[in-house]
Amino acid sequence: MTARILIVDDIFANIRLLEARLTAEYFTVVTAMNGPQALDICDRGECDVVLLDVMMPGMDGFEVCQRLKNAPATAHLPVVMVTALDSPADRLRGLQAGADDFLTKPINEVALLTRVRSLVRLKHLTDELRARAATSQELGLPDPLAVAAAEDGRNGRVLVIEDRANAADRMQVALAQHHVVDCDNEAGDLPARLADNAYDCLVLSLGLQGTDPLRLVSQVRSKDKLRNLPIVVLAETTDDARVLRALDMGVHDYLIRPIDRNELVARISTQVRKKRYQERLRENLQASMELAIVDPLTKLHNRRYFHSHLASLLNDGVARGAAVSLLVIDMDHFKKVNDTHGHDAGDEVLRECAERLRKVVRGIDIVARFGGEEFVIVMPDTESFAASRVAERIRAGIEKSPFPIHKGQKSIDVTVSIGVATAGEGFDSPDRLFKLADEALYDAKKSGRNQVKLAA
Ligand code: GH3
Ligand code: MG
Ligand code: MG
Repeated sequence: MTARILIVDDIFANIRLLEARLTAEYFTVVTAMNGPQALDICDRGECDVVLLDVMMPGMDGFEVCQRLKNAPATAHLPVVMVTALDSPADRLRGLQAGADDFLTKPINEVALLTRVRSLVRLKHLTDELRARAATSQELGLPDPLAVAAAEDGRNGRVLVIEDRANAADRMQVALAQHHVVDCDNEAGDLPARLADNAYDCLVLSLGLQGTDPLRLVSQVRSKDKLRNLPIVVLAETTDDARVLRALDMGVHDYLIRPIDRNELVARISTQVRKKRYQERLRENLQASMELAIVDPLTKLHNRRYFHSHLASLLNDGVARGAAVSLLVIDMDHFKKVNDTHGHDAGDEVLRECAERLRKVVRGIDIVARFGGEEFVIVMPDTESFAASRVAERIRAGIEKSPFPIHKGQKSIDVTVSIGVATAGEGFDSPDRLFKLADEALYDAKKSGRNQVKLAA
């Protein structure tokens, strides 16, 4: 896993030191010696993780971090604050500025690499989701990055597993200011518990008696549904090795005892924010995938979906020597419906028509809105006589019952014309099948509308 790490420090020797360690691990290093220079590099998207010195003349690290986190284009960039002073007040300021992590000088090499790796992993995932989200914006969905950036990480559901009563009480009080907290002194069936309740974060003591907390971590991580649940472990200063194991196993963060309540609150909020940020992007991806194949007005499949599936259904049918039929359905004088009753009434008619088509077909058939007032139905394993019977049933069903408009206050008569074509053995061109059905439709229109015509 390689990535570009930006090192920001006003002292050249500090840059050199970090650079040597990171390049030895095959990271690509970019450097900046002041805040504005660092912001430029981030703006241009030339790095994946930022290691940011706190004390710099001019613009200090807190300000750089705050600016990065406030700009939608860079808010997702993981920032690690590198501090000389390990004071809780400093940490708190950094977390309030939106820092994702801390390293204290002199820097422990293993901590450096573990933290950088885990943030790089997160960045790669986020990049992928962002790239997909960008396409969805073209489809007219709300800007997912702005929505995600507005997430403040408050009101998370947090589960704390801690068997030291005093520590548990203190944490519960601190976290309850911003989150909904459940606290327990034993894990029970932890994966089931987490799966049943929509927790946003798990806080787990590495000092639990009578159970192996790392085993709990591995049980949780092995559940698909819990893969993205942030886990934060509580450790002693002497727990280094176990903390590293925990991080390797996919724990997101750790806190060293005695636990600073402000740091606890801020770190949990950061985890909740990150989780929700990714959830927003994932939902957005889901919506954009749906938009790509579903017609928003009728909820039928759209033309794109029809095209991609016609080809594969045809190939499949031809390979099995089975017939595939296609119906092209066009509403008669639909322009008049709009002109007489308004565009909204036209939409109501289109939706009702889609509903009637949906009811007439089998599960394996594909009904799609081809565009405007034109629909298509692909029917695998269907000979032309069967297809024309279905077409006739559709035509008659539409003619027979008037369509409600103006929310049912009125109803109007509607008719459709339908062209039918069938592909059989040795036939493999979707374009040709469509052309034949379309010609039959044209024939039906020419012959007076409200009728079904078979391709010649
Ligand atoms: P023909 O019998 O020859 O098919 O006549 P027609 O009026 O149905 O056909 P034409 O292609 O001239 O007009 C189609 C009309 O469908 C024009 C367009 O405004 C309307 N239309 C297309 N899409 C929509 C839509 O989403 N909603 C509404 N209300 N009308 C639509
Ligand atoms: Mg029409
Ligand atoms: Mg038309």
